[in-house]
Amino acid sequence: MSYSEFYRRSIEQPDDFWREQSQLVDWFEPFTQVHDGSKAPFDRWFIDGKLNLCHNAVDRHAQVRPDDRALIWCSTEVDQEKIYTFRDLLQEVQAMAASLRSLGVTKGDRVLIYMPMIPEAVFAMLACARIGAIHCVVFGGFASVSLASRIEDASPKVIVSADAGSRGAKVIPYKPLLDGAIEQSTHKPAHVVLVDRQLAPWQAVPDRDIDYATLRATQLDQPVPCTPLDATDISYTLYTSGTTGKPKGVQRDVGGYAVALAASMKHIFLAKPGRSFFATSDVGWVVGHSYIVYGPLLAGMATVLYEGTPIRPDPSIWWRLVEKYQVTSMFSAPTAIRVLKKEGPTASEGYDLSSLQALFLAGEPLDETTSSWVSQTLQVPVIDNYWQTESGWPILTLPRGVEPLPTKAGSTGLPVYGYKVRVMDESTGKPVTEPGRKGLIVLERPLPPGFMQTVWQDDTRFINTYWQSVPGQSVYSTFDWGYQDEDGYCFIAGRSDDVINVAGHRLGTGEIEASIATNASVAEVAVVGVKDDVKGQVAVAFVTLKQAGAADDAGTLQGTICKTVEQQIGAVARPSHVYFVEALPKTRSGKLLRRALQAVAEGRDPGDLSTMEDPAALQHIEQQFRKG
Ligand code: AMP
Repeated sequence: MSYSEFYRRSIEQPDDFWREQSQLVDWFEPFTQVHDGSKAPFDRWFIDGKLNLCHNAVDRHAQVRPDDRALIWCSTEVDQEKIYTFRDLLQEVQAMAASLRSLGVTKGDRVLIYMPMIPEAVFAMLACARIGAIHCVVFGGFASVSLASRIEDASPKVIVSADAGSRGAKVIPYKPLLDGAIEQSTHKPAHVVLVDRQLAPWQAVPDRDIDYATLRATQLDQPVPCTPLDATDISYTLYTSGTTGKPKGVQRDVGGYAVALAASMKHIFLAKPGRSFFATSDVGWVVGHSYIVYGPLLAGMATVLYEGTPIRPDPSIWWRLVEKYQVTSMFSAPTAIRVLKKEGPTASEGYDLSSLQALFLAGEPLDETTSSWVSQTLQVPVIDNYWQTESGWPILTLPRGVEPLPTKAGSTGLPVYGYKVRVMDESTGKPVTEPGRKGLIVLERPLPPGFMQTVWQDDTRFINTYWQSVPGQSVYSTFDWGYQDEDGYCFIAGRSDDVINVAGHRLGTGEIEASIATNASVAEVAVVGVKDDVKGQVAVAFVTLKQAGAADDAGTLQGTICKTVEQQIGAVARPSHVYFVEALPKTRSGKLLRRALQAVAEGRDPGDLSTMEDPAALQHIEQQFRKG
């Protein structure tokens, strides 16, 4: 079947289409209705069906192929490697599930996972899925203020963490960050389960903290059956940044997610049971959830869990892993490839990469130079895919498992089956039909299986955030600008809101501004994303001070400000520059003109300044930039 027929069927006969895809997973009880769209804008999939994500990812494979590799852990941080077969994985997941159960965790309880890239992170996620607990994984690079707000919002019964992570051979103790976060949060978890890697000493808080090895030893060989869950039950929440400082808990279901991922593995990521998949992301991000943990395992593949950087011990490391583990599909982000290109353009030479069928890149714009360099270097197709934490799986790409369509330079591909992608004029609400004309990328209902159900405990925020961007139209806004060409290929042209993308990590400028504003000498602050050759964008801050002259020691103050951001949010959000300015450009109604600041910082024309309260403020900043 051609891709266009496949796509058309998904849109014109969605019930038949998704019923067929649903056969890729095991059901404990069949669903009675494929889709329920009666409560707009909430779409529900596979009504009355009962299943379990962990059963589909682990047990069903352990039954038929127990000795196949399931989880390949490789850490260049601590120089360790461990391979778990499906049998081993089942045993470890049951031990973790029994441990959580012994602490009183049951269906619907939240378990917050704040972990480095170690197997126990995967065990904990799958254990939650097994017993119907809702996991909330928080990226290990986040510091205590970010972590505290997530603990507050998720109100977990138990937190699973580790003594420390490691990045570039530097040990990062997690326990003090976690203790600090719990102290700041009004919600206190009943227990903290700690995986002791013996990287950093830690002290247990009596009656609260439990060493995982000790707990595990008491729970080994306890069978924990997979709880049959409703397809519409919640599998997890994952926090993501938006325009406001408060992170949103993206909430996902069980059945829709299982089917969407299983289908994407087949049609997009060229999955075959027994093969290996290597996604270089982190379990704390959506790519980690979908394509390190659930997707590959649902497809019966081995998944590579890599703790380390792309360039340590040397820039060949990833290609050594591809050769060693016979990786067939690899998933990474453009920034990582740009780093490799810069560090060691010949790093893949001499490695047998013949197992690799394709490299998938996502998370940020893929520039043509990077794309063609890596595809020539590896001699495999490079497939861009565009999506968001909210969608959970690709919205735009070229599903090669259906038809190997040609790529186009700069394009993220075609609308993926199940997605009614439209380009709309944000001010008139009219569709943009002219090829090449830019508009807001929106999605019409129904949103396909796997898409977020709502914002955790805040349906109103879900509606207000995503469904009210275009006048007179009830469409989901992606907050990305883009356009389609005459063949329907889509091109992404950047965010329409105040979200920036640093090395594939999505950050809200509001969050960084709030952190900088906690500094006593700061009066006002604006943060913008500025183009960067390697990271795509970096955060740049413009600060006015309460007292003129306080910037005399600008170097020290810049250091203090950067440190605040690092300690409160995490190193990913650290501004690359802090500029001290006399005034910030604003509209007459007092709205910060971040776009004008961004233009100046990138050496572009800031455009129409007629709405500006005080154009001199911007001119002054421009002069400062010209002086360097
Ligand atoms: P996140 O939710 O962290 O995955 O970030 C999603 C955002 O990253 C999208 O809304 C886009 O702005 C950007 N993004 C993701 N994938 C791509 C891509 N392939 N090309 C361009 N931008 C992308």
